[in-house]
Amino acid sequence: MNRSTLTSKCPALAVCCVAAVASIHAQASGPVQKIRASAQFTQASTFIDGDYDRFVKELIALNEIPAPPFKEQARATAYLDMLRQDGLSDVEMDTAGNVMGVRKGPGSGPMVAIVAHLDTVFPEGTDVKVKRQGTRFAAPGIGDNTRGLALMLAVVRALNAGKFPTTSDLLFVGNVGEEGEGDLSGVKYLLRQGKYKDRIKNFIAIDGGDQGNITRGGVGSMRYRVIFSGPGGHSYGAFGLVNPAFAMGNAIARFAKLQVPSEPKTTFNIGAVRGGTSVNSIPSDVSMDVDMRSESCAELKKVNDAFLALVKQAVDEENGVRSTRQGKISAEPKLIGDRPCGETPLTAPIVQTTTAVVKSFGLTPNYSISSTDSNVPMNMGIPAVTIGRGGVSDRAHAPDEWTDVERKGSVEAVKVAMTIILAVAGVP
Ligand SMILES: [Zn+2]
Repeated sequence: MNRSTLTSKCPALAVCCVAAVASIHAQASGPVQKIRASAQFTQASTFIDGDYDRFVKELIALNEIPAPPFKEQARATAYLDMLRQDGLSDVEMDTAGNVMGVRKGPGSGPMVAIVAHLDTVFPEGTDVKVKRQGTRFAAPGIGDNTRGLALMLAVVRALNAGKFPTTSDLLFVGNVGEEGEGDLSGVKYLLRQGKYKDRIKNFIAIDGGDQGNITRGGVGSMRYRVIFSGPGGHSYGAFGLVNPAFAMGNAIARFAKLQVPSEPKTTFNIGAVRGGTSVNSIPSDVSMDVDMRSESCAELKKVNDAFLALVKQAVDEENGVRSTRQGKISAEPKLIGDRPCGETPLTAPIVQTTTAVVKSFGLTPNYSISSTDSNVPMNMGIPAVTIGRGGVSDRAHAPDEWTDVERKGSVEAVKVAMTIILAVAGVP
């Protein structure tokens, strides 16, 4: 998960909006109460209490299998076995490398996909051994997102122990490619090309901390590597020829002056510049890596369009002010990242149901906009939320990342996640 702003938005909080949300919320809390009061829930809860040691064991085992970007396969294979051991059917790895299994409801109707990402941000060779200090476990990736993976397994077992029937089939997925340049590739494949793409009608990603925090908006991002090319030449002898470094510098200066709104939060950055061969050569190639993000699809499009236009203007200007007798400057913006933006409305049943569940456990709901696997379904209009793994964790994406597996909180987190999944899937 990429952390972002925490915001709580009901457009302008109009009275009608508050009233509508309150009424939808009331509808959502009935089924939640029914699930929590059921004999199955009691049975599942007893099981969860007794399953704690296995949760801890699996958390450690999974974390100690490295899963660097684009190299999730070893962890995926281990996770596949665990999904199978937990009694799911149709357990398989898809073409993208996602691993998944089904817990059948009626068996052919709508599905709820529950996903947790397998990949970490840490490169090959990172020491991923878990260092234990009491219940405080430290290791790269342990919170984000090994804890999400382990939580999902515990939920599957709890659902089976409680013998819960569900109205929708449940698809449990350990997915690849969430972090960084993975660019949400695992979930993009799952929802755009995978075999269940037409059946997934609700989507839950487990990839956050506090379970009161419900991510219902996806920060979109567009990333480019722009290569400015020209004929090059001797800095003294060929002086006067077009220079791609001047064109890129001009583009950078124009980009720096763009105005973007702070609400909805919209940002842009040049993260790397490269190029040239020597101090006394007009370069033939220079490049820059650019990142633009927004909470709003419209604002993201605006900044993206403005950026592409100013690159073109800078190129034209350079070709206009210096000699093109050896050739012109050109610029090739190559898309290197595309995280779709999107939002699940506050009034959507999946948001209200999740809210009702977290409230029923005494947690305070708050809504956030972030960049997670849920961006993809949100952008496609599939209702989606990203929920927390529970427990206390910190230092995500840092080598000293840790999570606290204190028993009471860890056990409670399984119950919360299980109840959210059940309430979204429906219990007949
Ligand atoms: Zn994550």
